[in-house]
Parts: sequence; structure tokens; C-alpha cells
Amino acid sequence: MDSAISRLKTYFLQTYGCQMNVYDSEILASLLEAQNYQPATAPEQADVLVFNTCCVRDNADQKVYGRLGDFKFIKAERPGQILVVAGCLAQKDGEAFLERFPQVDIVLGTHDVQALPELVQRVQAGEGRIVQVGRQGHHLDLPASPRGASSAMVPISMGCDQWCTYCIVPYVRGQLHSRPVVQVLAEVRRLVGLGYREIMLLGQNVNDYGRDLQPQVEFADLLEALGGLDAPDRLRFTSPHPAGFTPRVIQVMAANPSVCEHIHLPLQAGDDQVLARMKRGYTGQQFLDLVARLRQAIPDLGITTDIIVGFPGETEAQFQRTLEVVQQARFDSAFMFAYSPRPGTPGSLFTDQVPESERMERLYRLIHLQNGISEEKHRQRMGREVEVLVEGRSKKTSSRLTGRTRQNWLVHFDSEEDFSGRLARVRLDQAFMWGFVGTLLEVEPSAGS
Ligand code: SF4
Repeated sequence: MDSAISRLKTYFLQTYGCQMNVYDSEILASLLEAQNYQPATAPEQADVLVFNTCCVRDNADQKVYGRLGDFKFIKAERPGQILVVAGCLAQKDGEAFLERFPQVDIVLGTHDVQALPELVQRVQAGEGRIVQVGRQGHHLDLPASPRGASSAMVPISMGCDQWCTYCIVPYVRGQLHSRPVVQVLAEVRRLVGLGYREIMLLGQNVNDYGRDLQPQVEFADLLEALGGLDAPDRLRFTSPHPAGFTPRVIQVMAANPSVCEHIHLPLQAGDDQVLARMKRGYTGQQFLDLVARLRQAIPDLGITTDIIVGFPGETEAQFQRTLEVVQQARFDSAFMFAYSPRPGTPGSLFTDQVPESERMERLYRLIHLQNGISEEKHRQRMGREVEVLVEGRSKKTSSRLTGRTRQNWLVHFDSEEDFSGRLARVRLDQAFMWGFVGTLLEVEPSAGS
């Protein structure tokens, strides 16, 4: 028995950043599990420790550097542990990680995810420290290994050709690479067959999907093909680019009953000059017109967004225009950030950077405005009965289940029984800025009953 335990190999994965990184972590975990690694309960105890990193903002970089600093001492007591830095920061910094952090064994770029097991074996065999940061590979054809009870992510493309001037994604994820339609359809059908109720299509810019395929296809073609008899109960996608949002995508969204009544539509800024300098390809008014067309075509649509304040050169008047657009668009919620210059991007070279104190002050004002809108919108929805896909137990209150509506509103409700993965009808009783607490009215029968 003791020898069996001593042979057990463990891993721990710490993920930073966006949903594409969450997806990559699922792939990394499944690659290690295929080599008989089991999840460890704490990073200190793992044989293989992977930091899957993000570099989209400076504080994301700093978090990883700080965490790696902690492991200098932990690894001194556990020299056999293999420390891997993967993800966008690994792609950006490459070799520099080895120089700066002697405790790091493997640096694994975003194009080389599938190489992890082999690199671990090579380090274990005594090869020494390894950097694998290529520019071409991808892992779009690996089957997904979802960790959630009800939802699964399916990447439809990686990389981006838009080159927004603040964004580091094209540098660390490469150019657009779309997955063929037949492959996406097969993967979605496989996951639906396994019982996943909700599929999230992932891409850095889903509206560009298919431009690089031969023959070319459009994102609307893919959405349309995903309708029909074997469609998932819920289909979502992230993120679309407002400039590439064709009338046909809206039409297909409205016509396909699987597509959820939710869209994450990144605004980034409201002022036309700032948007032009960001190279976003739309004006504040065009964005508002798109929001109006979406709401007209899809009743009860939830809209969320991303906003950056304090982009270089942004004046107080231009920031006010962002506040105006936010007032008019009335998003359900927003991810809001102060601009963070990313070395190597055009934005970082602009000489008229906004001082940090001003960026933070604008961010505070924007958050205050948006939080008020979110809470007000949620209060207007109290008393409604909604369909919730149950994701699992609430992390804070174990007697509660948590899930999301089709509009992506977060709902908690009390239940002793665990209905994870099932659709429930819930009445919204209390509204908060972050979502709702409700009462369970009904749950669909389980698949086996
Ligand atoms: S479209 Fe999105 S991922 Fe692509 S460069 Fe712009 S912000 Fe970055």
C-alpha cells in the first residue's frame, strides 16, 4: 500500500487570465492525467506545478512574478518538483524566465501546449531546464476535457489579426487560425452526447472566424450549422468584435433557439478619436446602433462588455463620452480596467500616456456608474421566473446552488439536493449588483429518471 501511494504522481495547475487560458488549462490537465498524474490539493505538494499565465495587463504579470518568488523557497525544500510556466507570459518572456527565476524548469509557449508531458519526462530524465516557445503550432484538434458539470468550452479559432493598438494578444497568440467547421461540429456533438448542456465557442475574435479557411466561411455559417436536432440546449460564444458583427450573425442568433440571449460585446471606449487610436474600427454611435439592432432582434438580451479607461491621450471630455455611451447602452455588467501599457504594442509607444492617478480616478468613476446601472437593471427583474442551468454549490455558502440564466445572470438559491448539470426554474427574490438570490420552483427530471 505504501509503495502504491509513493508511486502516485500529482500536479497542480494555477490559471490566470481569460477563458482561452482556462481552456488551455483543461487541456494541460488532461495531458498530465493521461500520464497518470492526479490533481494535488495544494501547489506545495505537487510533483508538477504549472502556472498558466496571462500578460494582458501589467498586474497579471506582477501576480505571476510574485508567486514564482514564493516558490524559490518552497522548491528549495522540494527539489524534485518540476515548475512549469505556460501561457501568454511564457510566450512573451521566453528564455528570460530561466534567467530571472532559477526555480523554473520549463517555459512552455502558447503554441506548444501539447508538448508538456514530453518536456516533463525530459526534465525528469536529467536534460536540464527547457524553453519551448514556438510560433506556429496549435492544439485546436485536441478533444476538450471539460471540468464543469454542465458547460464545456470549444475553441473555434486561436490568434487574432486585428492588432488593436493596446492589445498584446496577436503577439502572444499569433495570427488567426480557424478550426474547420466539420471539426467544430463533431466536437460539439461529442460533448452534447456526453451530457454537456451548454457549449461556449471560444475565439479571440469570433467574428473573424473562417476568413483563413479554404474555402472561406463566415461565423454566421458556423452558428447556423450548430442549430438543428442535435444542438446543445445552450450555445454561447465569446468574444465578438463589434466591427465584424454582420446583420447575418444577428439574424442567425435570433433564429437559432440554442443561442443564448446574451452577448459579450467589448466597447473599450466611447469616444471616436480614442476608438480610432485604439484601431477598433467603429465609432461610439455605431456601437450604440449595433446594441439597438441586437436588442430589437433578440428580446430580453443580456449585454456585457469590456472597457478600458485612460488610453494614451484620453482627455476628460473623451472619458465623459465613454460615460455617456455606458449610460445609453445600459450594460448588464462590465469588465472595467485602467489602461496598462504592454511593451511592444503601439499603445505603449504613444508619448501622451495618462498619469496613473488619473487612470485610476476615471476607473473608479466608471465602476461607480456601471455598478449602479447593473443593480438598477437587476432590481427591475425581481419576481421573474427564469431558467437556471445549475453549475454547482456556491463557494461561499454550501447550502446554496449557483447557476446562470440564458442571459448570463448569476443566480443563487437554497437547496439541500445537488442539481448540478440540470435546468431549474427559479423565482428571482433579491437583486444585487452581481446577480440574484432566488427560490427554487422546479427542476427538470435527471437524465436517468
Ligand atoms: S480584437 Fe481583441 S484580441 Fe484582437 S487585437 Fe483587438 S482586443 Fe486584442
